[in-house]
Amino acid sequence: MKKAWTGAQIRQSFIDFFITRGHTFVPSSSLVPGGDQTLLFTNAGMVQFKDVFLGTDIRPYKRAVNSQKCMRVAGKHNDLDDVGRDDIHHTFFEMLGNWSFGDYYKKEAIAWAWELLTGVWGIDKASLWTTCFKDDKGDIPTDEEAAENWRKQPGINLEHILYFGRKENFWEMADTGPCGPCSEIHVDRGLEFCDRQDVPGHVCKVNGDCHRFVEIWNLVFIQYNRLSLTDLQPLPATHVDTGMGLDRIVSIMQGVNSNYRTDLLMPLIETVQRLTKDSDAQRDLNFTPYRVIADHTRACTFLIADGVVPGNIGRNYVCRMIIRRASRFGLKLGLKEPFLAQVAATVIDHYGDAYPELKRNRATILDNLTREEKRFQRTVDAGLGYLDELLAVLKSQNTGVLDGRLAFNLYATLGLPFELTRDVAREQGLEVDEAGFRKAMELHRLASGAGKAFGALGGEDVDIYRNIVQNLVNQNKLGHSGVAYDPYSTLEVEGRVLAIVKDGVSVQDAEEGDRVEIILPKTCFYVESGGQVSDTGTITSYAGSGWEVQVEDTRRPAAGAIVHIGVVVRGQPQVDDPVVAQVDAGRRRDIMRNHTATHLLHAELHAILGDHARQAGSLVAPDRLRFDFTHPEAVTPEQLEQIEAGVNRDILGNHRLKIVVKPLQQAISEGAMALFGEKYGEMVRTISIGDQDPFSYELCGGTHVRETGDIGLFLITSEGSAAAGVRRIEAVTGRGAYELVQKRMRSLKQAAGLLSSQLEDLPAKTQSLLDELERERKQSFKLRQALVAAEFGQLLDSTPSVKGVPVLAAVLQNADSETLRQMCDRFRQKFSSGVVVLGSAVEGHPVLIAAVTDDLIKRGILASEIVKTIAQVVGGSGGGRPNLAQAGGKDPTRLQEAIDQVIPLVEKKL
Ligand code: ATP
Ligand code: MG
Repeated sequence: MKKAWTGAQIRQSFIDFFITRGHTFVPSSSLVPGGDQTLLFTNAGMVQFKDVFLGTDIRPYKRAVNSQKCMRVAGKHNDLDDVGRDDIHHTFFEMLGNWSFGDYYKKEAIAWAWELLTGVWGIDKASLWTTCFKDDKGDIPTDEEAAENWRKQPGINLEHILYFGRKENFWEMADTGPCGPCSEIHVDRGLEFCDRQDVPGHVCKVNGDCHRFVEIWNLVFIQYNRLSLTDLQPLPATHVDTGMGLDRIVSIMQGVNSNYRTDLLMPLIETVQRLTKDSDAQRDLNFTPYRVIADHTRACTFLIADGVVPGNIGRNYVCRMIIRRASRFGLKLGLKEPFLAQVAATVIDHYGDAYPELKRNRATILDNLTREEKRFQRTVDAGLGYLDELLAVLKSQNTGVLDGRLAFNLYATLGLPFELTRDVAREQGLEVDEAGFRKAMELHRLASGAGKAFGALGGEDVDIYRNIVQNLVNQNKLGHSGVAYDPYSTLEVEGRVLAIVKDGVSVQDAEEGDRVEIILPKTCFYVESGGQVSDTGTITSYAGSGWEVQVEDTRRPAAGAIVHIGVVVRGQPQVDDPVVAQVDAGRRRDIMRNHTATHLLHAELHAILGDHARQAGSLVAPDRLRFDFTHPEAVTPEQLEQIEAGVNRDILGNHRLKIVVKPLQQAISEGAMALFGEKYGEMVRTISIGDQDPFSYELCGGTHVRETGDIGLFLITSEGSAAAGVRRIEAVTGRGAYELVQKRMRSLKQAAGLLSSQLEDLPAKTQSLLDELERERKQSFKLRQALVAAEFGQLLDSTPSVKGVPVLAAVLQNADSETLRQMCDRFRQKFSSGVVVLGSAVEGHPVLIAAVTDDLIKRGILASEIVKTIAQVVGGSGGGRPNLAQAGGKDPTRLQEAIDQVIPLVEKKL
């Protein structure tokens, strides 16, 4: 081993090594895969090049080198189980890769790998092992070409070249598609790394079960296209795709026994240690919590920087889960206060140069972590306590598995993510039913109307579209990149129908009333992307007697394929018919206004709320726009007013939009805002607004107005919460704004008409009417009570006596409880001995009041008792003192019935 390299130097030397060999450096794409909804997170370097291998995307380079941010915490690649337990698997890691797209192949890939590892980095040749593909099923040829190339490497130990079967050494992207054999490079770290010495019969070996051999690099040679389970065709062009985990190579080159002891992760461990005040020895004895916290904090720091904030489903759930998991491991170390922000600050300090998005989002990252920890801390004690009880019950019943529904309840009510419940259960030797948890979560989401929780989208038959495009390319009816797409320069194109798809199959013609998908050689219809909805319009043909399809939607079912979806409203479309495709121009202009307004809104949010207010999703439709952004609290009415005013000022400034296509790197370094979940190619479209000194600069493939003045008017219609830490603004522009103003003006005018007032005087006039109404209400109340008093006077005069005692029981109309009480007082003034019980419906609710003179209380007649008994009739209850009591109820129609019970009741007591 030569001098100690830093992790950053190792990353850079990998990149430089391949740049010197003709490779183009391609920056890491986001952890949120662009344009691929089947994948939760980018999990390998090849994700951003998938379409290149599929032959549907072409790049200006044939050799590339990159260091890709990866997450393996969900789906097919889920390493969460190993994280914290071993020293080589992380949830987040960087994958170094070199790529050949139909250029060099095994010879160069192998020679360069060997040269870099042994020559540049000085790794001991004797410690390196390599594996080649030999089919365990005997169907696919052995990769002798790779083995032959390995044998040629200077100083290689020929006995270190091994063969393995499909599981280890054959790589496939999916059930069908590009695939091929691979060669892995493993390092023998020495006997002291074996953790199974005490297992009888254990032998250390490559791809074995101990920690002595570590896989560091995988070289994949893509040379076949799998058409079916049994049909493997050679590809016309062959490719190289490699992946090396940065943490692993760094730990080897730095001669440390764990990825966590490299200069990439050790600073995070040390930050935690400063907080726990553990000695080094204490730390090493209890290393698992340290590992988990370091790993998870690095992961969520990168996630939040890529726009994934903690939440309840999908990616957001994962973010929440790893934060809470780290927080719980903090509890195990005695860290009871939020602390992850301090660890994240170390991540940002160490990774910020290589990944500037971390620095840019520093405040958002730290803030989100602390908030989420606080949210978790509110329920964690209760949650863990309850979980312990559940587990104790299981153990007493000798049951090994916790019901998934219970695990879901723990999550839904006490905030314990499934993975955390499972940690705790496993620590006690129990398991949790994962399928049951997911089912309960799914049911809950469906019941709450929120849609699928874990939906792998897609699942439709991409193949038919891929085949259609492939055939059309082969017949030279389409270029290699498929249907030409230009929604920017025109709203009308001509061409011939290339294909018609009906009910999922390619057909030659269709009938009136059919729902079809039509493929043309080029289109000006926008395909939904970046929040902007698809265009609608018509496709018409003068072939035969003519036909027309009403286009309701467009989509891109496979790379290179764009289909117009709609219904045949007239005639019989046929493949090859000449057509004119026209976008609904009015609708499209509405969309363009809303899209440009979205950019203005984004800029104003930054100006007024701060840079943390980043886009977290958007919808650009013809009738409205919706914009979600990260912001921890509600936007105040004053801020909303400022934002709305700002956007309208930008509109009146009538700025010309500058739309320029330029290299991604350049745009990013100029400060253009890249959006969450978007996929960017080598060349990107940039939109800047604001003459000399642009106040808005975004990467965007959407369609926009020429000048901001075209937007007309911008009105915010609502502000609210979209998810934890995410706010949502909805707004209208142009026609929609005009219609809104018109609607509101009409109501105002109507109101003014009714009040015989000028518009401007409406508030004052309304206020004075309200005042007048209030005065009238008081007056009428007084009158009503006077009427009640008069009515009561008559009743008082004819009070019946029961066994010589005056007892007055009556229902009074329209009396409130205050009046009823006054009437009781009048009764007591008139009779020194007696019982009065009055009832009335006050605003639809029955009220009963009883009063008893003191002498009768001594004889056992209690107002509280009377009220309690008769209130049952009206479905209520009540109480009070023996001389005065009151009750309410539910059913005012039975008041008389209740009052009728009074005399018999009193009679019994006397
Ligand atoms: P392993 O068998 O060790 O899990 P893998 O076969 O899943 O590795 P690949 O999919 O071939 O790995 O990925 C290429 C390289 O990425 C690996 O050789 C390794 O260096 C690195 N790598 C893979 N998974 C992880 C992980 N969870 N954490 C860190 N590095 C990883
Ligand atoms: Mg793996």
